[in-house]
Amino acid sequence: MTTNNSVGVPDNHFFGDVCKFFDHAATFTKHDAGLLDQIKSCNSVYRFRFPIRKGNGFEVIDAWRVEHSHHQSPTKGGIRYSEMVNEDEVMALAALMTYKCAIVNVPFGGAKGGIKINPKNYTVGELENITRRYTVELIKKNFIGPSIDVPAPDYGSGEREMSWIADTYATMNPGQLDAMGAVTGKPIALQGIAGRREATGRGVAIAIRECVSVGEDMQKIGLTAGISGKRVIVQGLGNVGYHSAKFLTEFGAIVVGLCEYEGAIYNADGLDVESVFQHRKATGSILGYAGAKREFIDSMEGLEQPCDILVPAALENQITSANIGKIQAKIIAEGANGPTTPEAEAAFYQKGGLIIPDMYANAGGVTVSYFEWLKNLSHVAFGRMNRRFEENSNLNLVNMVEGITGVALNSVQRSTIVKGASELELVNSGLEDTMIRSYHEIRETFMNTEKIDTLRTAAFVGAINKIAVSYQNLGVWP
Ligand code: NAD
Repeated sequence: MTTNNSVGVPDNHFFGDVCKFFDHAATFTKHDAGLLDQIKSCNSVYRFRFPIRKGNGFEVIDAWRVEHSHHQSPTKGGIRYSEMVNEDEVMALAALMTYKCAIVNVPFGGAKGGIKINPKNYTVGELENITRRYTVELIKKNFIGPSIDVPAPDYGSGEREMSWIADTYATMNPGQLDAMGAVTGKPIALQGIAGRREATGRGVAIAIRECVSVGEDMQKIGLTAGISGKRVIVQGLGNVGYHSAKFLTEFGAIVVGLCEYEGAIYNADGLDVESVFQHRKATGSILGYAGAKREFIDSMEGLEQPCDILVPAALENQITSANIGKIQAKIIAEGANGPTTPEAEAAFYQKGGLIIPDMYANAGGVTVSYFEWLKNLSHVAFGRMNRRFEENSNLNLVNMVEGITGVALNSVQRSTIVKGASELELVNSGLEDTMIRSYHEIRETFMNTEKIDTLRTAAFVGAINKIAVSYQNLGVWP
């Protein structure tokens, strides 16, 4: 886990780890060293402090916004609300956003924000003040806008915070038609998009399903092909972890372990994710759940239990040289950003494992954020213009085929064929298509590049090549 000292000076190496991965992948490309340096560097780092009223006094809040790369505009990335957040972490997360967007062909540069608070220590009113003031600070320095930099939720933030940002931005930019495109992850009532809330977790589940569907790759790591019956442990029961666990269960996997910061639970026969979630909501802890066969006060022990797939979906630096030897999973699917250190990854591959890297695995969130941004700029919900037209066309076709063949469809068959797509169906289909295509793009690079070692290296190689082309197209590099 990251830590920093009282003056906010970073004392960890998350950005360094991302650069290590980058430098290694760069050796599999043929780009000019200067261009590689430009791609790797953080273009703009804005660190600021602002006061808020707390109780009878004031408190000064530390905050950041980092725009890692402007090879595409706007830049894009979530805002982390955490007392552990620091400049190094925000830089690393912004860099990962750049590579992530390139991997899933989302035309944004990478960015990230951080507010150094534990949201649990503030009232809703105080959180609103902090979020609105943070937004004003970004506006003052031109660090937010639908064509400049577009924030989204991350660890510790969600739809509520995004709605405060949208409202503040729109208030400060009266008459700006595209103001709602200045932030994504908004509630649907405030021009958000259906499917955004669960998009990252759904994307993680699709990534895993796609990976385990390739029999040849599974054979190499000693697993059978197919998601059905695969045993999964998930760390973090927040937005990404909960939805990953939910969709993996829907796809036929068995969630055998769940880990939160207060402890972990395990049942080899499977845990009911929804009822664990409700239990935690009611009692404030994952522990004490009646359906668990084993409990661990030390949450990290939960990661080391028998399973096929481990999904870290909490924070970075969870799987390190210290615990990699005890991890029993054959696949680590990174729901969180940066959960595995470079040393742990090397050790995991050495013992025959496979890692589905964060910059691909959790890209479902930014993919659907891109759809939301498109919706905001076009000022029309997906499906609104064509749904009825499609239904009428399909109905005409069904009537005609029934007339010609004399075979009448039953009502379920008829409505399945006739139905036009809703916004949610279009979003989910766009997300699924993106995750499947991107996986095979990465895998192809992995299979076709001599001496390449990991899927992460392959993902980086693909991202670096795409970003290099953008710089060349911008005319800033020969
Ligand atoms: P969240 O705040 O909704 O949930 C995080 C959960 O992790 C919380 O329930 C928290 O209690 C738990 N947690 C914290 N420390 C833990 C520990 N040591 N052990 C076990 N559990 C712990 O955050 P989120 O949005 O789900 O984000 C989780 C990760 O996914 C982050 O790395 C984030 O950057 C990444 N991510 C999020 C999104 C998104 O759309 N929200 C998109 C891409 C990547």
